[in-house]
Amino acid sequence: MKIAIIGVGSVGSAVATAVKNTGLAHEIVLFDRDGVRARAAAEDLGHATAFSYDIKITAVSTYRAMRGCEIVIIAAGANQKPGETRTDLLHKNAMVISDIVPRVMANVDTKKVKIIVVTNPLDVMVMLTQKLSRLPVSRVIGTGTMLDSARLKIILSRQLGVSTRSINSYVLGEHGDSSVINWESVSVGGITLDDFCKQAKIALPATTRKTIEHRVRNAAYEIIQGRGATWDGIGAAVADLLHAIINDEKRILTTSIVDGNGKDAVAMSMPRIVGENGVIMNLRTKLSKTESADLRKSAKIIRRNFDLL
Ligand code: NAD
Repeated sequence: MKIAIIGVGSVGSAVATAVKNTGLAHEIVLFDRDGVRARAAAEDLGHATAFSYDIKITAVSTYRAMRGCEIVIIAAGANQKPGETRTDLLHKNAMVISDIVPRVMANVDTKKVKIIVVTNPLDVMVMLTQKLSRLPVSRVIGTGTMLDSARLKIILSRQLGVSTRSINSYVLGEHGDSSVINWESVSVGGITLDDFCKQAKIALPATTRKTIEHRVRNAAYEIIQGRGATWDGIGAAVADLLHAIINDEKRILTTSIVDGNGKDAVAMSMPRIVGENGVIMNLRTKLSKTESADLRKSAKIIRRNFDLL
C-alpha cells in the first residue's frame, strides 16, 4: 500500500513514524510546501526503517508523485499557539486545504482513494475536503474525537483501576471545545458505568465527572502549553485508523465524516464502523437529554463555522 502524508511538521512526522511502525505500507511519500523540511524528515525516517520494516520513504516535490496512493493523510497547516483555540485556525487552514485537495484529486485514483483529515479545526476541514474532492462521504474521514475518546479512556482507566481495553467510552461531536462526553453509553467490561462503580465501590459523583470532562477538553491546551504542540497521540490515532481500514477490521471508532444533506449537512464525530471502504456505518449511542442537546449545539457550531468560509 502506498500512502501519502501532506504536511510534515510535528504532526505529519509523528504520523509518518506511527504509520511506518505499523508495517502496513510499503511506500510512504511525504509532501510539504517546505521541501527542505520534507527531505530532512524522509532522510531521518528512512534511517529508522533499518530498525523496523523495509518501507520506502521519500520526500516528493510534486503531487504527480502521489499517483498510486490509496490513502492520503492531510496534516498540513497552522497549529494552535498557546492560548489559541482550534477555531482560530479556520480561515488560515481553509486556504491550506483549498490548495491541497484539488491537486491531490488530479493525481490519485478517485474511485479508490481515501483521504484522512487531521488538520484543525478538524470537522470543518473534513466538510471542506469532502466538498472540494467530491468523494463519497465515506471516504473522507477525519480523526475526529478518536484522540479525545482515547484521553477519556485513559482517565477512566486510572480512576477505575481497569485496563483501557475493557472500557468503552466515547467523546462525540466537535473535535474542539464543544465536544460531548457520552457518559450515558460508558461501559466497563460490558457493565454500565454506574453498575460497575457500585460493584467496585467507587464513587464517581457529578463533580468528579465535570472534572474529567474538563481534563479531556483541556488536554491539548495543557500539552501545547508545556510542549509547544501535540503530536504523539494523534500519530497513534492515525495509525489505529489505518489498521482499521487496511485490515478491513470493521472496528467502531469515533471518526468525523459528513452526515446529512444540504444546509443540514455537518461533519462531527459519532461511533462509526470503519473498514476497507472507509466508513461503512454510522451508529447512534444512548444519550442523556443534556448530551443530546449538547450534541445539537456542537453540530450548530461546526456548521456555522463552515458557513463562514
Ligand atoms: P507544524 O507547523 O509543525 O507543521 C505544519 C506543516 O504544514 C509545516 O511543515 C508546513 O510547511 C506545512 N504546510 C502548510 N501549508 C501547506 C500546504 N499548503 N501544503 C503543504 N504543506 C503545508 O504543525 P503541526 O503541529 O504539525 O500541526 C498540523 C495540523 O494538525 C494543525 O492544523 C494542528 O492543529 C493539527 N492537529 C490535529 C490534531 C487532531 O487531533 N486532529 C492533533 C494535533 C494537531
